[in-house]
Amino acid sequence: MIETPVCIIGAGPGGATAALQLNKLGISCVVVDKAVFPRDKVCGDGLSGKVIMHLQRIDPEMAQRFRKTVLKEDSWGVRFVSPGRLHIDVPYKPNYSKVTDQPAGFVCKRMEFDNFLVQELKRADKHVRLFEGVSAEKYKLTEDGYEISDAKGEFKVKAKLLIVANGAHSTFTKEVAGIKMEPQYYAAGIRAYYKGVTGTQEDSFIELHFLKSLLPGYLWIFPLPNGEANVGMDMLSEDVRTKKVNLKKLLTDTIANDPIFRERFKNAEMVSPLEGYGLPLGSKKRTISGDRFMLAGDAAYLIDPFTGEGIGNAMYCGVYAADQAATALQSGDFSAEGLKAYDERVYRALWPELQLSHRLQKLVKYPRLFNLLMKAATRNKQLQELVSCMFYEMDIRKKLAQPSFYFKLLLNR
Ligand SMILES: Cc1cc2nc3c(=O)[nH]c(=O)nc-3n(C[C@H](O)[C@H](O)[C@H](O)COP(=O)(O)OP(=O)(O)OC[C@H]3O[C@@H](n4cnc5c(N)ncnc54)[C@H](O)[C@@H]3O)c2cc1C
Repeated sequence: MIETPVCIIGAGPGGATAALQLNKLGISCVVVDKAVFPRDKVCGDGLSGKVIMHLQRIDPEMAQRFRKTVLKEDSWGVRFVSPGRLHIDVPYKPNYSKVTDQPAGFVCKRMEFDNFLVQELKRADKHVRLFEGVSAEKYKLTEDGYEISDAKGEFKVKAKLLIVANGAHSTFTKEVAGIKMEPQYYAAGIRAYYKGVTGTQEDSFIELHFLKSLLPGYLWIFPLPNGEANVGMDMLSEDVRTKKVNLKKLLTDTIANDPIFRERFKNAEMVSPLEGYGLPLGSKKRTISGDRFMLAGDAAYLIDPFTGEGIGNAMYCGVYAADQAATALQSGDFSAEGLKAYDERVYRALWPELQLSHRLQKLVKYPRLFNLLMKAATRNKQLQELVSCMFYEMDIRKKLAQPSFYFKLLLNR
């Protein structure tokens, strides 16, 4: 039996960030992941500014290593395509310069990004012990900690505190934390890598195609290095069920038959399997800690309901869970009551944004409104700049989530 103050289940962005922050605080931990890295994770691979911000805050040299060594595409802006197929190109920063500005985000295969984080864990071996290829299956709460083991009981860890960061399909979340999947607050997503997609924006803007059949979800094309692109779709699980949608078929049919995509994909080749995974959306608040445990990342249901972004939020949780672990280890208070401070900090940071995104998600369900907005935007430079910051700037999103904004826009057309 390995004994440790903190055991982290999952070495994805949530778990790895928690371990890196614990390392920074000088606290030992054990990290267990069922995969052996490098491993793939179904994702759009879009890394927002939050990701680089966290790397920078934990260790500026680590952020520098990420910038210098990891294969990724710089991200300068977004192409929004309305259900009526109008598009606007919106840079994250107006009048950006690719020479003097740093890119606001990146598109980076999870195979590369998650492996980078795991390599950082291996560097932090003074405080972090990483066990790959071990699936945590059994959890036993005792008086002085949690005992965790694999299915056969061959691998055992005892920890004072548990950080559960094992992703969207976490059984701990369901069975111990009691958080159930609700299809109106959950999305299904699929993606494949393609080579040779044409017609991408000259500075590799990421593309969000709000097709009528998917609203409030969208089809995305995120350009990657070496002529590859991450192509996928997401849709609310509720809609997938009620409309009996086969998302994989919908994607391949759309690419084969839609006149615009058919042309753009005519010489393209799918270079990976087409795979799907769940997106637990942070559309409502949940209790994300309990006696001797904290949930982090997808296991805590914190994906942005509008953008589908979850990596940055998982990293927020990782940092906060580690900080809370430090407080609990110092005070000796591992109770559900004591760990509530973690929930409060996570929601203080993320709830305003999640709530707005939930409102926006409800608004973009209406294709006619969307088309009108896009028509107005193609003619209005100010509005383009407004949308430009939508994915990153809270104040802008706040405006966009208010019905009055749309009335004013329509009146001023
Ligand atoms: C189709 C799709 C597209 C998306 N696109 C984007 C995007 O473009 N940008 C973005 O920011 N977010 C995106 N997301 C969301 C993003 O993928 C997640 O929010 C993010 O991966 C959450 O990180 P995490 O560390 O919480 O979980 P994960 O990345 O899922 O990591 C969990 C880890 O736990 C391990 N694990 C699981 N069970 C066990 C176990 N029993 N024992 C030990 N280890 C275990 C797994 O092997 C894994 O390494 C997308 C999601 C989907 C499905």
